[in-house]
Amino acid sequence: MANQEFPLIFERSKEGRTSFNLPALDVPEIDLNQELGDTFVRKTPAELPQVSELEVMRHYTGLSNRNYGVDSGFYPLGSCTMKYNPKINEDVARLEGFSHVHPYQEPEQVQGAMEMLYDLQSSLREITGMYDVTLQSAAGAQGEWTALLMIRAFHLANGDTQRNKVIVPDSAHGTNPASASLAGFDVVSLKTNENGLVDVEDLKKVVGDDTAVLMLTNPNTLGLFEKDIKEIASIVHGAGGKLYYDGANLNAIMGYARPGDMGFDAVHLNLHKTFTGPHGGGGPGSGPVGVTEELAPFLPKPVLVQKEDKYEFDYNRPQSIGRIKPYFGNFGINLRAYTYIRTMGPEGLKKVSEFAVLNANYMQERLKEHYVLPYDQHCKHEFVLSGKTQKKLGVRTMDIAKRLLDFGFHPPTVYFPLNVEEAMMIEPTETESKETLDEFIDTMIAIAKEAEDNPEIVQEAPHNTVLKRMDETTAARKPVLRYQKEQ
Ligand SMILES: *Cc1c(COP(=O)(O)O)cnc(C)c1O
Repeated sequence: MANQEFPLIFERSKEGRTSFNLPALDVPEIDLNQELGDTFVRKTPAELPQVSELEVMRHYTGLSNRNYGVDSGFYPLGSCTMKYNPKINEDVARLEGFSHVHPYQEPEQVQGAMEMLYDLQSSLREITGMYDVTLQSAAGAQGEWTALLMIRAFHLANGDTQRNKVIVPDSAHGTNPASASLAGFDVVSLKTNENGLVDVEDLKKVVGDDTAVLMLTNPNTLGLFEKDIKEIASIVHGAGGKLYYDGANLNAIMGYARPGDMGFDAVHLNLHKTFTGPHGGGGPGSGPVGVTEELAPFLPKPVLVQKEDKYEFDYNRPQSIGRIKPYFGNFGINLRAYTYIRTMGPEGLKKVSEFAVLNANYMQERLKEHYVLPYDQHCKHEFVLSGKTQKKLGVRTMDIAKRLLDFGFHPPTVYFPLNVEEAMMIEPTETESKETLDEFIDTMIAIAKEAEDNPEIVQEAPHNTVLKRMDETTAARKPVLRYQKEQ
C-alpha cells in the first residue's frame, strides 16, 4: 500500500479536457461584472486541473489508499481504543428515519429518534452505574469540561467558593489538566507510586478544603486498575471534594465494574472509542457525561426526559450549566454507539472487556523479554513499555515507531504517559486475531534486534512510505495543507 504512485491531477492537466458535460444554456446569459460588481469577480481564471472523470477518480482513490485506518491494518494506538467499526452501525446511521431528521423538527415528529437517544442514555446509565446521563458533549475532552462546570456549580451552590483546585495524577491524559484550566481551576499534580498506581499518601497530603475534584482514569493510562479506589474515594469525599472518572479506558472493565459503584460522582465516556464510533484525525466524537443524583440538577439543558409514553426536551432546569453544544449532541455517533450496544447485548459487552484484556496481556508477556516493562504485573486492556534499553543503543522510541511504518503497522502511542521514559503504549483491542497480534509482536522483536545489529536502519526509518522522516515540529507549526505546484 505504501509508496503507491498514482497520477496527480495537476501534472496530468490537459488544456480543454473536462470531467463534465453541461447542457446548452437555455436562459439569457448575465453579465457577472454588472450583477456582482467589479470587486467580486476574479480577473484571472482559477488554475484548476483540466482532467477527465476517470483521472479525477484515480486521483482521489489514490489519495485514500495513502491513508491508514482500522479497515486497512492493525492500529494499536494506546488510550485511543481503535477497535473495528462494525458496518451495521453505518447501515443503521443511514436509515432515512434517522438521517433525514432535522434538529429543528417538533418533538412530536421525531419521537423515534428521541426514543433512541433516551434508550442510549438508559444503557449508559446502567453500564456506568450513574443516576443520569447527558449526550450533549461531543468528545471526551468536552465531557470533562462539562462535568467540571457542573461540579463547580455544585460547590458554588453549597457556598463552597474556596474549592478551586483539581487534582490530576501525573499519568493522566493531557486533556484532564487542560479541561481543568479551561473550567477556571488550578491544577495540582498527584504522584504515581512504585506500582504504577495513585500514591495514596501523596493524595492525603494534597487533598483539602480547597479540593474541588480528583480526576482519575481507571484502569489508569498505564493499563493498571486502581485497586485502592474505594479508599481514594473516601479520602476525597471526606474532604468534601468530588471524584471524576475519565472513561476512556472503559473498554477494560465493561460489564465487570462500574464507576458509579466505585464511588465516582461524574463520568465521561468516549463513544468513539469504547462504543465503536469511527474516529481519528480529530473526530467525529461523542463524550456523554453521567452523574450522581446530587449533580443531576446541573446537567446541561435541555434534558431529554420521558413523560408517560412521550419523549420531551426539558428546558425548565434552573440550576443547569446551560447548553454546551448546539442541538442535541453528535447524533450520528450516538446512533452508532446505540446500534453497537444493542448488537452486543450485556453479555457481548462483557466479552469485549475479557478479550481486550486477554489480548493486551498476551502481547505484554511476549514483548517484555525484548523491551523494558516498567510496571511488571497483569495489565488491563493496554500496557506501557519503555524503550530505554534501545535508547542506550542510539535508537529512540520515535525511531521504533517510524520503523513500524515500514512493516505496514500503525505505531502505538509514544511518549505518553509522561511518567514512563521513552514510552510505548500498546492497546490491541478485542477485535484482533491472535495471528495479527503475533505478526505485530514478531515485528517489534525484529526491530529490537535491528536496534542491536543495525541501528541505522531504525534511526533512518521509514524507508518505504510515500513521505520519509518528517520534520515534526515544522509540520505541526507550519503545516502545508494545500497542493503546491512544483516550479
Ligand atoms: C482520548 C482520551 C481523552 C480525551 O477524549 P477525546 O474524546 O479525544 O476528547 C481523555 N482521557 C483519556 C485517557 C483518553 O484516552
